[in-house]
Amino acid sequence: IDEKFDAIVVGAGMAGNAAAYTLATRGLKVLQLERGEYSGSKNVQGAILYADMMEKIIPDFREDAPLERHLIEQRFWMMGEHSHTGLHYRSDDFNEEKPNRYTIIRAQFDKWFNKKVQEAGALTVCETTVTELVQDAYGKVIGVKTDRGGGQIHADVVVLAEGVSGLLGTRAGLRKIPKPTEVALAVKEMHFMPQEVIEQRFNIKGNEGAVIEAAGTISEGMTGMGFIYTNRECISLGIGCLVSDFQKTGESPYQLLERFKKHPSVAPLIEGSEVKEYAAHLIPEGGYKAIPQLFGDGWVVVGDAAQLNNAIHREGSNLAMTSGRIAAEAIFQVKSRKDPMTSANLSLYKKMLEESFVMKDLKKYKDMPQLLHVQSQNFFLTYPQLVNKAMENFVRVDGTPKKDKEKMTVRSFTSARSWAGLFGDAFKLARAWR
Ligand code: FAD
Repeated sequence: IDEKFDAIVVGAGMAGNAAAYTLATRGLKVLQLERGEYSGSKNVQGAILYADMMEKIIPDFREDAPLERHLIEQRFWMMGEHSHTGLHYRSDDFNEEKPNRYTIIRAQFDKWFNKKVQEAGALTVCETTVTELVQDAYGKVIGVKTDRGGGQIHADVVVLAEGVSGLLGTRAGLRKIPKPTEVALAVKEMHFMPQEVIEQRFNIKGNEGAVIEAAGTISEGMTGMGFIYTNRECISLGIGCLVSDFQKTGESPYQLLERFKKHPSVAPLIEGSEVKEYAAHLIPEGGYKAIPQLFGDGWVVVGDAAQLNNAIHREGSNLAMTSGRIAAEAIFQVKSRKDPMTSANLSLYKKMLEESFVMKDLKKYKDMPQLLHVQSQNFFLTYPQLVNKAMENFVRVDGTPKKDKEKMTVRSFTSARSWAGLFGDAFKLARAWR
């Protein structure tokens, strides 16, 4: 490709598609490069799509996007060995005209999103890996090189939307490789079964969907969570934990997934299903403190590649697409003023991102990743065990006077953690949650 572009977008995931679409609809000349066979072919997600953020990019996306089910129910499970204690929210209000959250299958959704990108006028080239960022003598990024050979492709600005395991930015010295404490490794399976079986098992009908998020003994004291999402004819089921915890314990993600599936609360939900897909992927979980430099001379970084992921609320794709959109809007503003794509001018991207929910949410939970990591044995093993035991004690009727039961429960907590430990944990959690 000989011509020069206004922008090159590396990656066609949520962040890359959002950036390329926004740039192209503003009339910029955009080249998008994706190493996968097609947009979505390399992407792994649970997956929940957050409609509000999608609407800000393509307002009428519901008309033809491949959506699975809209969510009307959310369950949070604190897992014990053979039990779970749940918090359950279900509302018919979510059966609204424009539902707020959907399950999607990323391979299909990204393909659709990328078609919109191309219709908006961007040139997407798949099966092409960007191997290098081209920098001038002053370090300004002026283009890329790909594995197709053919020399350099130039652009005013390069949008790095290469995902969490992208190596371009790190190779060019623009950011560090995330530490093992800053990324989780998640494994996921797709369990196929007839639509009516899913609907019976999850008490849903039509296009309604449900989500289960589970933490506790299933991760064996490691910082991590499991999830179950209902699609139309299959269930996405997976579990992920911090890479540093896998290193420390020697556990394998595959073993963890097998145990999650065999848990007596989970097994009946997937009984008789046919597994058609297995995937593994990293999730950035370092939070606010792990966010790298977001812009420089001739480049910006968006989405997972910039650690923009809210692990506490299990939100990633919405932060990815919002950062992609905002980066594109900032680039458009710089371009409209006929200003060069310097670091000083592209700092507008960070300023705009700081005004959005993306940075505000990540900032709110800035101390959570560290707390959960350091206290993983307590928060992911000891407390879930204690809470489940307390619930059993509460509901089992065996002639033990209720007062004695209460004393037993309190004693189980204080002997496991002591009063000082309990108050300390509650205080630290409340402070990190603020
Ligand atoms: P990606 O989607 O990873 O896209 C990066 C793209 O760049 C890929 O297509 C890749 O092939 C391409 N690429 C990389 N390097 C190069 C290169 N050198 N040249 C060319 N192309 C390149 N988020 C949610 O909001 N809801 C969920 O329910 C949810 N569940 C998840 C479950 C799992 C198991 C996982 C792993 C993640 C989940 N996430 C979820 C997070 C979400 O998937 C990510 O936040 C989101 O995909 C990030 O988008 P992205 O565009 O930044 O990166």
